[in-house]
Amino acid sequence: MSMKQYEFWFVVGSQFLYGPQVLETVAARAAEMADALNASGNLPCKLVYKVTAKTNKEITDIVREANYDEKCAGIITWCHTFSPSKMWINGFASLQKPYCHFATQYNLEIPNEEIDMDFMNLNQAAHGDREHGFIAARLRMPRKIIAGYWKDEAVQKRLGSWMRAAVGVAFSKSLKVMRFGDNMREVAVTEGDKVEVQTKLGWQVNTWATGDLVKVMNAVTEEEIDAMMAVYTEKYDIATDNIDAIRYQAREEIAIRKMLDAEGCKAFANTFQDLYGMEQLPGLASQHLMAEGYGYGGEGDWKVSAMTSILKAISEGQTGGTTFMEDYTYHLVPGQEYSLGAHMLEVCPSVASAKPRIETHHLGIGMNEKDPARLVFEGREGDAIVVSLIDMGGRLRLICQDIKCVKPIMEMPNLPVARVMWRAMPDLTTGLECWITAGGAHHTVLSYDVTAEQMKDWANMMGIEYVHITKDTTVEKLEQDLFLADLAWKLK
Ligand code: MN
Repeated sequence: MSMKQYEFWFVVGSQFLYGPQVLETVAARAAEMADALNASGNLPCKLVYKVTAKTNKEITDIVREANYDEKCAGIITWCHTFSPSKMWINGFASLQKPYCHFATQYNLEIPNEEIDMDFMNLNQAAHGDREHGFIAARLRMPRKIIAGYWKDEAVQKRLGSWMRAAVGVAFSKSLKVMRFGDNMREVAVTEGDKVEVQTKLGWQVNTWATGDLVKVMNAVTEEEIDAMMAVYTEKYDIATDNIDAIRYQAREEIAIRKMLDAEGCKAFANTFQDLYGMEQLPGLASQHLMAEGYGYGGEGDWKVSAMTSILKAISEGQTGGTTFMEDYTYHLVPGQEYSLGAHMLEVCPSVASAKPRIETHHLGIGMNEKDPARLVFEGREGDAIVVSLIDMGGRLRLICQDIKCVKPIMEMPNLPVARVMWRAMPDLTTGLECWITAGGAHHTVLSYDVTAEQMKDWANMMGIEYVHITKDTTVEKLEQDLFLADLAWKLK
């Protein structure tokens, strides 16, 4: 399902105490608010006003309906009036969808002349939302709390941003990942407990033989390759005479996509150590598939592949700047401390600052019989994050670091791959010490669109540990946080 097909249900809490007129007003205003929020253009999905809930049964009924409705990606609650929270316990205890408490108020101002006891009976969000918040705290529910005036654009955007993270939850729960072969021999961080991951995050991670892919590749027709070449020619500059190499990548892309689509997979991983029957490691092929929204991980890294697809789902319809990434090398000159990110071949062109070039070069690593075609480009400037999901044994940890991407400070004319240069927060070496302390992988997802707050929300909704390295992080504080988290997660 795409972003626009999802909806969020607006459930407003109240009770019978104030009489039918107040309840009618609350219902009319809730519908008005949903309409205005939908018309604002700041929400990626539709907000559907469902009910002004007054009883335990109304709440459990709507929760049951939400749990089983595929379109419903979460519920958003608010208390215009006071809604005694014991009536919410049964519903909340059975809620299986993301939950946001929108602590807002219908009126912007306290009306000086108009305010009387009738006004006070109708407009009780200030204490209604506190009663409502208590019970979620008491139940230890994962939740997002957004406070602010509902017409305020910044508040609407926060709500929209959370909606995107919640869609990432729905996407994760139905995600299938296709592995071609195993992960790279002897590598630790690309291992992981696939049963644990499926239980926690919903991912169905399974393996297909490279030989299965080669069979599909061999059945791709010249006409199909011609059509793919037309797409490449339109999107990219062809900077090689080796057209056969590009056509071979087209054949690989078409075949991989056929297999992914036949199985309903939105992410895949392969490895240069298992290309049996293939002439080239898919470079351009994997890059263009990422640009089309599929997740990818090199060296059999299925976790980063899945995360790439999730971040792409969260940011659907935005700039599209999300890619599989690897920390490659550093520039350690004082005052110019930068990380250079790249990969053997596979960086998504959605992060490119200009039209990418298709080039062919020799690739010594792996089973390549021929020079693989790949897209070469520079990443664009801008604030971004890098994200790594690691398996700590018994739990998953999501690590997110704030970074500032820059125009690469040198041309690197002999570097035959796409590259992104950035300044890590709080600075290169402290950031590196923090990243290594937390156990972050060399593979990451880099995104200009997805925010650290969305990753925190997503991790919270998925029930996994979240570590954020920011401009203010120190190694000492992080070590302390990780020590306490280790204890806390053992108790969970
Ligand atoms: Mn790698």
